[in-house]
Amino acid sequence: MRILTVVGNRPQFIKAAAVSGPLRQAHEEVLVHTGQHHDDNLSRVFFSELGLAAPDVQLHIAGGTNTSQTSRMLAALEPLLADVRPDCLLVYGDTNSTLAGALAAAQAHIPVVHVEAGMRSFDRSMPEELNRVLTDHVSNLLLCPSQTAADNLAAESVHGKVVVVGDVMVDVALRWQPAARSQRSVPEAHSVEPSSYVLLSSHRAGNVDVPERLQALVDIIASLPRPVVFPVHPRTKARLRETGLDATLSSMEHVHLADPLPYAEFTALLCQAQAVLTDSGGVQKEAYLAGVPCITLRANTEWVETVETGWNTLVDLDLEAVLAALESSPPTARPQLYGDGDAAQRCVTAISELQSRSTSLA
Ligand code: UDP
Repeated sequence: MRILTVVGNRPQFIKAAAVSGPLRQAHEEVLVHTGQHHDDNLSRVFFSELGLAAPDVQLHIAGGTNTSQTSRMLAALEPLLADVRPDCLLVYGDTNSTLAGALAAAQAHIPVVHVEAGMRSFDRSMPEELNRVLTDHVSNLLLCPSQTAADNLAAESVHGKVVVVGDVMVDVALRWQPAARSQRSVPEAHSVEPSSYVLLSSHRAGNVDVPERLQALVDIIASLPRPVVFPVHPRTKARLRETGLDATLSSMEHVHLADPLPYAEFTALLCQAQAVLTDSGGVQKEAYLAGVPCITLRANTEWVETVETGWNTLVDLDLEAVLAALESSPPTARPQLYGDGDAAQRCVTAISELQSRSTSLA
């Protein structure tokens, strides 16, 4: 089969790094980079570090509102799909690149495969939630990280075939975390001692695009009773600059700011942190896998199992809740969630079966 994969942002490069290798052993893949994340440290570094093949097509579409960005991607993908004529189109996660790829393919009657299908925060004010729901409803093959995700899809009566494969980001994390745990030079390079610091990541629009909420985030950082390592996402950096809060943050002695980091370096910081403070989806799971307590700067999460097991605490931007979570002891049990590191292979098997199904229907 010829499969056209659309990726565009950091977590999608990480997910594609898990799937692309096994996929290319069985099929032909045409990799399209929309350009949604174009900074070298959010994009190029992950291709070289994680061994992802260079994109075959670069669309260079970034910036603008969600609507404008998605529509420009749709317009660019339509002629590309007509030219490449793939047997199916593969998308990951919940970004504008995901929705644009899925919708362009569905309009062209090309089967859509969605990896990380069925995740729901049930918060439609999040652009990611809209992208997830809409993508799932035009997908033919919905590959879910968990049974909860499959149950969400059953409740919404989606049309496509649903398969629980596990989470492909777990495949990557399980490969990289064992070595990352002992790389003491990484925290040292950020001027912190292993097990003594908080690793912070924040870039959700709902937290950084609203000045009052950004101020609340900076107030939380100021009050943290631990050293903080904060690799700052470009979106957050821009908002901090616009509000003048960048100077406030830079003046805090316990805060060690950094540019966005390569995967290995970020993973080493995550595995050796005392706790992780984040509004990222991927980081919540990675903290769970690493056995590091996670404090999530959101009121909801798609990764509900991490909360149910007691390893993740939802605090939104409530300082008291952050401080209480930081002082509480982690649970002892940490059952396996989201698979055993073989999700990518299961994705490829399910995609191959899509071909035999369409052959038998012809
Ligand atoms: N990550 C990274 N460097 C960083 C911050 C995050 O490699 O400086 C990785 C992290 O390990 C995870 C992914 O990026 O695998 C999460 O991406 P992000 O938070 O941008 O997206 P989300 O998961 O929220 O969609």
